[in-house]
Amino acid sequence: MRMTSVLRKLLGIKHLVVRNARAEDGELVVEVRPSWRVARCSRCHRRVWTVYDHQELRRWRHLDFGAFCVQLEYRPRRVPCPCCGVVVEQMPWSDEPRSQFTMDFEDQVTYLSQRVDKSSIEQLMRIAWRTVGRIVERVVAKRRPADPLENLEYIGVDELSYRKQHHYVTVVVDHRNQRVVWGGEGKSAESLLAFFEQLGPERCKAIKVVTMDMSAAFIKAVREAAPDAQIVFDRFHVQQLVSQAVEKVRREQWGRLRHIDGPAAKALKNTRWALLRNPWNLTPSDEDKLSAIQVHNKGLYRAYLLKESFAAIIDRLQPNVVRRMLLDWLSWASRSRLVPFARVARTIRKHLDDIVAYVRCRLTNGLVEGFNNKARLATRRAFGFHSAQAVLAMIMLCCSGLHLAPVAKRLSR
Ligand SMILES: [Zn+2]
Repeated sequence: MRMTSVLRKLLGIKHLVVRNARAEDGELVVEVRPSWRVARCSRCHRRVWTVYDHQELRRWRHLDFGAFCVQLEYRPRRVPCPCCGVVVEQMPWSDEPRSQFTMDFEDQVTYLSQRVDKSSIEQLMRIAWRTVGRIVERVVAKRRPADPLENLEYIGVDELSYRKQHHYVTVVVDHRNQRVVWGGEGKSAESLLAFFEQLGPERCKAIKVVTMDMSAAFIKAVREAAPDAQIVFDRFHVQQLVSQAVEKVRREQWGRLRHIDGPAAKALKNTRWALLRNPWNLTPSDEDKLSAIQVHNKGLYRAYLLKESFAAIIDRLQPNVVRRMLLDWLSWASRSRLVPFARVARTIRKHLDDIVAYVRCRLTNGLVEGFNNKARLATRRAFGFHSAQAVLAMIMLCCSGLHLAPVAKRLSR
């Protein structure tokens, strides 16, 4: 086999001819050309028989051969395409006229960005971090599903904080395809309205369910842009409000009793987790503490019972039963003489329909929060993340269902 044929096989790029190769300062420079003689327009791919002129000699970085950087070298022609005007010809190794890298190189960098940290990519691929950012943007734009906002019916919205909790992005997920479909800056009603605007009035009408935390801004946006959609409050978020009420009652009682030395104060010591844990996670010592509270602190024990019965109600399967039981629960909570519970009862009564809606569709915001954790992990792992755009690019790279394969795997198929 001739050396040029071996090189062509090693490069693994279709429609490419190797003309020559030479070693130069630790780099392998391979002179190449497209296998087609007649140049093609890089925009519409039609063949153009005349050549307008030649550009300067250019190089494209390809995947390394061992310790050697591989550079492809070629003088691209410019062609007068009848449709597109004078454009650079199509090249089989690159589809982005501004890029100094081959497509395989860019795919490899993007694949790595989904998985490993910044400095490893810099060292392994021998490129600067800023270059990685630009490559990722190009590949994500190219590989994304044509229109992720098509056929949305069940969506979830949530906010994600970055840069030490002071900055936010709003994220929309598709429950059916389990992926992030949209992201925007901020966490206000306007942030979410920007999503609905992009969706357009027709597709807004098709939205059936929106899951969310009890965020006033998001509620406002959904009521305004998609009034027919059913809002579903995240079950765990509602449960958390009730648990917080228990904790408030405990603190109140502790503030009142800790100066008095007696069994009532003693019963309250270190009871926070015993009160908040699910019944199936209670340790024997938790159970002793709860028994002591039952004897010495009726108010706090009532708070505990309220919390447990709320969880039991919301886990039931029949929406009508849940609504009836919740109404009973609400009047119990309002009459409980526990201020935090009276307050929670008011909130729950106000949003009763949207809470009961959970029982019907059983969707929670867990998916959104899972993505948030994934994106947050990626933030910490890799990127400097100073702009919302960078955060959103990373979220889209990791959570929008983009399947990338390492180049080696693709070639072996
Ligand atoms: Zn053209």
